[in-house]
Amino acid sequence: MPANILDGNKIAAEIRAEAAADARALAAAGTRPGLAVVLVGNNPASEIYVRGKVKSCEAVGIYSEQHTPGESSSTEELLKLVADLNRRDEIDGILVQLPLPRQVDSKKVLISVDPAKDVDGFHPMNVGLLSTQRPGLAPCTPAGIMEMLGRSGIKIAGAEAVVVGRSDIVGKPMAMLLLNANATVTVCHSKTHDLPGVCRRADILVAAIGRAGMITKDFVRAGATVIDVGMNRVADPVEFSRLFAGNRKREETFQAKGSVLVGDVHPEIAEVAGAITPVPGGVGPLTIAMLMANTVKAAKMRRGTGARESLVV
Ligand code: NDP
Repeated sequence: MPANILDGNKIAAEIRAEAAADARALAAAGTRPGLAVVLVGNNPASEIYVRGKVKSCEAVGIYSEQHTPGESSSTEELLKLVADLNRRDEIDGILVQLPLPRQVDSKKVLISVDPAKDVDGFHPMNVGLLSTQRPGLAPCTPAGIMEMLGRSGIKIAGAEAVVVGRSDIVGKPMAMLLLNANATVTVCHSKTHDLPGVCRRADILVAAIGRAGMITKDFVRAGATVIDVGMNRVADPVEFSRLFAGNRKREETFQAKGSVLVGDVHPEIAEVAGAITPVPGGVGPLTIAMLMANTVKAAKMRRGTGARESLVV
C-alpha cells in the first residue's frame, strides 16, 4: 500500500486559523500581538523568507514590522536594536533572521533577545525550559512537526523515534520534544555507525540532514512514519535522475527551472513507509505557521492570559 501523505499545507492552515482566532481575541481585548523581524544585509534567500513571514502576519492579524540594518552592521548596533525591541511593550516576538553577516557575533545577538519574546525558541533559557518540560517557546520547525504528528493521529508515546541531525535549530529540539511526548529517542549524526540499521528501528524517523535523498529504502522499516525536514536544491542531472527518473511532473519542473527542491528522503521510500511528508508541501509550511502560533503564544504568556494547550511544551 502506498504511504499516506501528510499534508503540511493543510495542517499549517489549521494552525494559522487558530492563531488568527487567538489574535482576534487579543486584539478585541486591546492587545494586538506584534512581531518584529530583523533582516541584516542583503541575503536574497533571507529576503524571501522574511517576505513570507510578514505576509503571513498580515493574514493572521499580527502586527509586524521589519528592521533592515545594512550588511556592514556591527554586533553593538544590533545589540542596541534588539534592546530597543525588548523594551517596547507592543512587540511580543523578535525574530533575528539568520545567517548574520560574518563580522557579527550571532550568539551574542541571539542571547540578547528577551526569552519571553524569543519566538524562534533559540535562547538558552527557552532551550532549558524545553528540556525541563516547562512552558516556553520551542523552535518552530520541530514544534510544527509535533503538531503534524499529533493532528495526523500518529502515536508518539512509546514509539521508537530516530532523529538524524543534531543541530540546535532542528535535530536537538526535535529529539527533546519527542522525548517529552514519551517516545524512545535516538539521535544520529555524521559519526553514527550503521546509520541505516539504527534508522530501521524507527517507528518515527525524522531526517534533518541537508543531503538530498540520502534516506533510501534501506533506512526505513515497513509502515514507519518518515518526516523529511531537508530542503535541498538539486541542479545536477545525474543526481536528478537518481531521485526522480520517470517522474513526469518533476521532469517538467527540472526542464523549466533547471533545478528542483528535494528533501533528505529519497522518493522511493513511499513504497515502504506508512506515512511521509512531501517536499515541498510537508514540513516547510509548518515552520511559518508555528512562528505565528509562537508569536500569539508569546503575547498571551507576556500578558498572563495563558496559552493554547496543544502548543504548550
Ligand atoms: P545542519 O547542517 O545544522 O545539521 C545537519 C545535521 O546532519 C548535523 O547534525 C550533521 O551531523 C548531520 N549529518 C550531515 N551529514 C550526515 C550524514 N552523512 N550522516 C548522518 N548525519 C549527517 O542543518 P539544519 O539542522 O539546520 O537543517 C537540516 C536540513 O533541514 C537542511 O536541508 C535545511 O535546509 C532544512 N531545514 C528545513 C526547514 C523547514 O522549514 N523545512 C527549517 C530548517 C532547516 P554532525 O553534527 O555530526 O555534523
